[in-house]
Order: sequence, then structure tokens, then C-alpha cells
Amino acid sequence: MEQQLSDKFLEKYKQKPIATYFAPGRVNLIGEHIDYNGGLVMPCAITAGTWLLIAPNNDQVIRFNSVNFEEEQSFDIQKEYQKTGHEWYNYPLGVIHELQKFGWMAQGLDLLYFGNIPIGSGLSSSASIEVLTAFALNDYFNLGHDKLELVKLSKRVENIFIGVNSGIMDQFAVAFGETDKAIVLNCDTLKYKIVDCNLGDYNLAIINTNKARKLEESKYNERVSECSEALTALNKEINISNLCELTAEKFALHSHLIENKTTLMRATHVVKENDRVHLAAKALNAGELEEFGRLMYASHQSLKELYEVSGAELDAVVDFCSNYEHVIGARMTGAGFGGCAIALLKKGFEEDFAQKLTESYVAKIGYPATIYIHGIGNGVSSI
Ligand code: ADP
Ligand code: MG
Repeated sequence: MEQQLSDKFLEKYKQKPIATYFAPGRVNLIGEHIDYNGGLVMPCAITAGTWLLIAPNNDQVIRFNSVNFEEEQSFDIQKEYQKTGHEWYNYPLGVIHELQKFGWMAQGLDLLYFGNIPIGSGLSSSASIEVLTAFALNDYFNLGHDKLELVKLSKRVENIFIGVNSGIMDQFAVAFGETDKAIVLNCDTLKYKIVDCNLGDYNLAIINTNKARKLEESKYNERVSECSEALTALNKEINISNLCELTAEKFALHSHLIENKTTLMRATHVVKENDRVHLAAKALNAGELEEFGRLMYASHQSLKELYEVSGAELDAVVDFCSNYEHVIGARMTGAGFGGCAIALLKKGFEEDFAQKLTESYVAKIGYPATIYIHGIGNGVSSI
């Protein structure tokens, strides 16, 4: 991989790269739609990711190329940058813009990116390219920022420079992921624990439904406000600032205060899903992968029936998995309505799984899903 990219770099820039960096994509293993309710998420980095090759130039310009995209671009060295339309290079440009706010002055650079994460499918290729660029420039130019600062800076790029309203989980997982470990993270406090997540005889199958996530933003905002309605209703009797301050038992004592049936369903999902993350961490600590798998199925069921953010495509994948004997757990991952599902698939059954799932999925949905097999990999690093 690196050799091919190095050749490509030479072809594009007529010089050899000086340094190479890698940042992974991520999946959320469990804990969905609870980050904005003060709860816990459990992401991990995956073995697919984005590479960046760098060399300085004497032309006082920053040149951007990506193997994944045709548009090339170069920018003069300036103190500040602005987003220029929707082209891919706005992501790394945003990172440079943010780094310069800390007093760094950009220098002449040739940059080449390549990613093997499916782009725009919810595996966070965007956080990958952001954290990758921030980490690489910080390392290459010795800027002295720690990883957490780079995570926060990358999130600002996504939220402000690019204009996508998303939480910090993605950048955090891309930066702090470790091989065969999951991260239990509170996205508000940024307190986190690394837990063993050795999948043993199993692999992480990632199934891209190939359904565009069109509804995502409006429904996401709707769920955020439904949760805040539930909180207001509960606070007539108790005093909490987040739904996830309640355990399932405590919630049951006060849930009668939520009169609206839909609002009650949403809050029930949130509280129970947060409990499931605790149980999932316990199961992983005890090496009980099958219990972890059962919690994944329970999470999906709740997202489908109580939170109503699944859809025919994601359900088709998870239904197939629950009837396939070599999968011990599966669920939608990410905001829902499309994007990806994940499954714990026994090693050795990759081809059989792909063939049978494809048959079943096409019969129900009319077009194929794409299946990737990955491990749990390391966070951003230099190579
Ligand atoms: P995702 O779910 O993959 O994060 P987004 O729409 O949030 O989807 O981000 C995808 C965007 O990130 C791409 O359209 C592109 O602008 C940028 N990007 C991701 N990976 C690469 C890459 N390898 N090369 C260039 N740009 C990339
Ligand atoms: Mg993204």
C-alpha cells in the first residue's frame, strides 16, 4: 500500500514523500443516540482508514491531491482560509485554518491522501481525514498540541468550517482507538475508559446498506427535541440535567410523568441503551462475547421499535444476521435510516455470509449491500 502511494506521490509532485501517516475510520459498537443525552458510547477504530503522505515544497503553496477524488487544488500561504464550495480538500484546509489560529504559519507543502473507508457511509471518513491532517501537521512541524487538543480542533473543523453538526465521538475514536480495544466514552465530560475487546474467533463485519442517509438530519433534530421534552416532563418531580443520569429502575419510578407516548418511547430507549453500554463493558471485561452480541441485538430492537431510526434496509441486514448461525450479534450503527450495520461474524464464514446476505438483501431491497470485514485497529499514527 505505502509503496504504491509513494509512487503516486512521485508521479504527482516530482519528489519523494518525506513522511507518512495513517488514521482509521470508526464504528460505534453500542450506545446509539445517547451521546446528546449525557450517556455513554462505545466506539472503536477499525482497520480501514486514510493515509497521508507529505513533503515540503519551496513554492510557498499547499497542494492537495487525493487518490479518491479527481479535484486537485493548491492554495497560496495565507493567514486564514475559507471553505470554497463542497470539494473534498475543504476538510484538510479547515484543519490548516484551525492550526493557524494557534499561531502556526502554514508552509509550502505537497499532500497526498488515500482512503479505503467507504466515503459517506457513516464510518467517519470525515473525522479520519481531519484527525489525520491535524496529527500529521502537528507531528511534522512539532507544533506541540496534545491528541485531545487535535480531537477538539478536528471537531471544530467539522462543525464550523464544514458546517456539519456532529458530536465529538468520531474524532475521539479515530485518535484514541487501540487494537482489540473499545472506548467507553462520555461525550460531555470526555471521561473515558479503554476496555478489552478481543473478538477472538470473530471478526467485525460492516455492512453498508448503500441507502443514502437522507432523512438523517431532520429526524436527528426531532429526536434531540423529543429527548429534551422528556427531560422537562421528568424534571417536574426530580432534578436531572440529562436523561442518562437515570438508571432503568429509577426511570421506571418517574416515567409516568411523560404523558406523550412517543416521547416516552424515546426516553425509554435512551435510558435502557445507556444501561446496555454498562452491561456491554462488563461482558467484554468478562470475555463474554455472546452476551455482548445479545446486547447488540437488543440495541437494534430498541432503535427500531422505540427510537424509530432504523429502516427496511438496516432491518433486512439485522434480520438476516439473527437467522444466520455464525453471527452472534448485529445492529445498526450511526444515526440510522441508512448507512451501515455491524455484525460479529465467525472467522472462516466471510464468503458464505456475503453470498447468503447478498441474496437475501437483494430479494428484499432490490439492490445489493456492500460487505467489509475488518478488525479493531489503532488510532492515528505516523508510519
Ligand atoms: P462519512 O460518513 O464517511 O464521514 P461525510 O460526508 O461526513 O461521510 O465525509 C465524507 C467527506 O470527507 C468526503 O466527501 C470528502 O470530502 C472527505 N474525505 C473523506 N475521505 C477522503 C479521502 N480519502 N480523500 C479525500 N477526501 C476525503
Ligand atoms: Mg462524517
